[in-house]
Amino acid sequence: MTSWTDIQHRRLVELGAAEAVLQQAFSDDAARNNAFQKQVTALTRLGRGRLAQLRSTHRRPALCRLEHRLTEALTGLGFVQVSTPVLLSRGLLAKMGVTTDHPLNKQIYWVERDKCLRPMLAPHLYYVMKDLLRLWEKPVAIFEIGPCFRRESEGARHSSEFTMLNLCEFGLPEVQRRQRIENLADVIMAQAKITAYAFETETSAVYGTTVDVVAADGLELGSGAMGPHPLDRAWKITDTWVGIGFGLERLLMATEGGSHLSRHGRSLAYLDGVRLNI
Ligand code: ATP
Ligand code: MG
Repeated sequence: MTSWTDIQHRRLVELGAAEAVLQQAFSDDAARNNAFQKQVTALTRLGRGRLAQLRSTHRRPALCRLEHRLTEALTGLGFVQVSTPVLLSRGLLAKMGVTTDHPLNKQIYWVERDKCLRPMLAPHLYYVMKDLLRLWEKPVAIFEIGPCFRRESEGARHSSEFTMLNLCEFGLPEVQRRQRIENLADVIMAQAKITAYAFETETSAVYGTTVDVVAADGLELGSGAMGPHPLDRAWKITDTWVGIGFGLERLLMATEGGSHLSRHGRSLAYLDGVRLNI
């Protein structure tokens, strides 16, 4: 028995072949090459069909449509959208505890000596929130959706540039925090059209209680946290809070399938999840 060559396998992944197709085995090379041609023809036709549909109907990639639905749902719930810089200062990153010996520190893209491409949205949300807590009556709920950057070594479920949604709500009763995280995650999952997911709780001395949202196949979709939290001290914040960060490409991967995240993100090679060199 033989399976796809590396080049064939890579091309089938690019074209969005199903996992079952990628796992196929053949009696000999001729049968395999014949099957490869058939798959490429079928997947190319499918891709061209999807591109035609994009052009004639919604005209926006799935990533943009998902961002729009999430924005509408959250503003509808009273969350205020914020839009903060993609460049993050070294000082604000340090306030998140990301200094020399933190695992995330190796993953930072430094732009200048004191600026990096943000690996997360949380520091800027903290920054804005500390003023809003002074200006607005509680509870105060805000969110941001935007690009984040991390040096990643592992490919299929990570990309160096991805889109994060981070929402947070400050000043809610302490006993409601866990339930609130689940309710807010349910809202996001409904907008992403994901029905099979679970919550995984962990408690650590450094991060307090964290609640991950995990897809049926074990893929981490989002990470939630709650406060009061050790990091709050750096911002002089004493309120209770909940927050969750989701990767939008992960949400699309969970609904649209495919073994690689890259086709769902910002790309030159793909448009709306379809490889352009077809
Ligand atoms: P993982 O353990 O999967 O690497 P993480 O726990 O390091 O993720 P968080 O810091 O919790 O990631 O970020 C919140 C969410 O952002 C994750 O749950 C995931 O959906 C998404 N995310 C994180 N890193 C990436 C990446 N490199 N590419 C795509 N999405 C990512
Ligand atoms: Mg996480």
